[in-house]
Amino acid sequence: MTLVMYVAGTMLVTAGLVAGICYLVRAYVRYRDSRLIVCPESGEAAMVEVDAVHAALTSTLGHTDIRLQNCWRWPLHQDCNQECLVQLDVAAADCLVRGILRRWYESKQCHFCGMRFEQIGLLDHEPALYSRLGKLIEWRKVPIEGLHDVLKIYEPVCWNCYIAQLFRQEHPDLVVYRPWRPGIPRSG
Ligand SMILES: [Zn+2]
Repeated sequence: MTLVMYVAGTMLVTAGLVAGICYLVRAYVRYRDSRLIVCPESGEAAMVEVDAVHAALTSTLGHTDIRLQNCWRWPLHQDCNQECLVQLDVAAADCLVRGILRRWYESKQCHFCGMRFEQIGLLDHEPALYSRLGKLIEWRKVPIEGLHDVLKIYEPVCWNCYIAQLFRQEHPDLVVYRPWRPGIPRSG
């Protein structure tokens, strides 16, 4: 009986491994290859390559992260926002937008608290955006159309400040402003 269970367990694990490897290979094949885009910065055509290994691995977590591995304009312009990703057809629109936003935040600070955005993890709370007219927008609601304009008009906002500002906008009657005085703790 024990031997039968051992063999069955081994077969199950092997089948799982084979299925996992097949999935990764299929995903890798889907993302690899060079693609022609029009660079949003220069307006000229350029050939880019998606980081196929990274895209395949992150897709197993349900958060496919699309980023470039190579571009004709690199290494001179390697610190760009990679906004050309919106022109690719390798993934759903929300995946492409997320990939661009993740890099856009990395070099910025929260508009309200000044917190510097480091590399945003796949499972972190998603930051938001804030326009100079006071409009808040969630990361996941940024449209792929006009993304370039959104990134020019909006400022980055961390998750905590987003929640605080949202509450302030929705319940202005419940928020009391007290000017902070030196020597008095800010909280408590
Ligand atoms: Zn903040």
